[in-house]
Amino acid sequence: MEKNQFSNRLTGWYDTHKRDLPWRHTTNPYPIWLSEVILQQTRVDQGLEYYKKFLNAYPTVSDLAQADEQEVLRLWQGLGYYSRARNLHKTAQIIEKNYNSIFPDSYSELLKLKGVGSYTAGAIASFAYNERVPIVDGNVFRVLSRIFGVFTDIASSPAQKEFREIAQEILPDKDPATHNQAIMEFGALQCTPKNPDCETCPFQEQCYAFAHGKQGELPVKKKKVKVRDRYFNYLVLEQNGKLLMQKREKKDIWEGLYDFPLIETKTPLEGLESLMAHDDFPKELIKNHLAFKDVSKTYKHILSHQRIWATFWTISFEGNWESAGDFLSKKESEQVPKPILIDNFLGELN
Ligand code: SF4
Repeated sequence: MEKNQFSNRLTGWYDTHKRDLPWRHTTNPYPIWLSEVILQQTRVDQGLEYYKKFLNAYPTVSDLAQADEQEVLRLWQGLGYYSRARNLHKTAQIIEKNYNSIFPDSYSELLKLKGVGSYTAGAIASFAYNERVPIVDGNVFRVLSRIFGVFTDIASSPAQKEFREIAQEILPDKDPATHNQAIMEFGALQCTPKNPDCETCPFQEQCYAFAHGKQGELPVKKKKVKVRDRYFNYLVLEQNGKLLMQKREKKDIWEGLYDFPLIETKTPLEGLESLMAHDDFPKELIKNHLAFKDVSKTYKHILSHQRIWATFWTISFEGNWESAGDFLSKKESEQVPKPILIDNFLGELN
């Protein structure tokens, strides 16, 4: 099929099926950028909420640049991958400082921004400036691999180049932005990972996967992510109705967020005795007056490469302990940015 014919069919489908989303009504690069970064983390319905929250709190890129990092993390809470929120904030500061708060207006210049990769640069260049540049996200990988019968492993390094070339070839000269929106939407709604709606598909006749019954095998993604189990034993120290919370400073997950003093173990702990006997249990605590009040159920929290198994040991504590944390009231604890795991625990506590 010739490229304009392909694109006309695609955008014809888009006209009828597209969802009405706020970032599709603007060519302002700032909200487009926000939406793309947020949507890399989550589904559209949940992303919409975060998009509105961010735009409400920070209507311009300068507002975001001048925001307190803690506040940005707090707003991001629940989306995971907190390094993305920190990068978002840092990139806003670079745009404010080095670009006078005006986004670079081409794909190649956008790519020079720290924290902006080819996908995001492509999305901004296409949707804000209508530059003729392809965008390849997970949806596009799926659509192209199925229609054109491409069996290259999409997690492999040659895949980006190969799929970008195909995406570039079918990109029309006129209105490439709508074409890019359309192919991503087509992957999200019609050519879905499971049960694609082939019966009503406008590409049924051309589609390799349909003709060969290979929808379940395409796209090929071989790399298996190795998942590591981690066991978190949280000491929830309670004093006068306040809880001791600490800011995570280590280069690890959740950097900059708040949780409780933590003892991490390689296997689950058997009980209170093994917790207190653990080398990392703070010996200063034992000298003080403390009373164990409760132990929680085990919370399972899944991240992309890790499975966290968390247990919370609530301890009433009357003495002093020189730790890096502060005792926070319920209201104060609500205001600090926290991993969703901690938020869930606190929610069940109250
Ligand atoms: S025929 Fe099925 S697999 Fe092929 S593009 Fe359409 S929805 Fe996707």
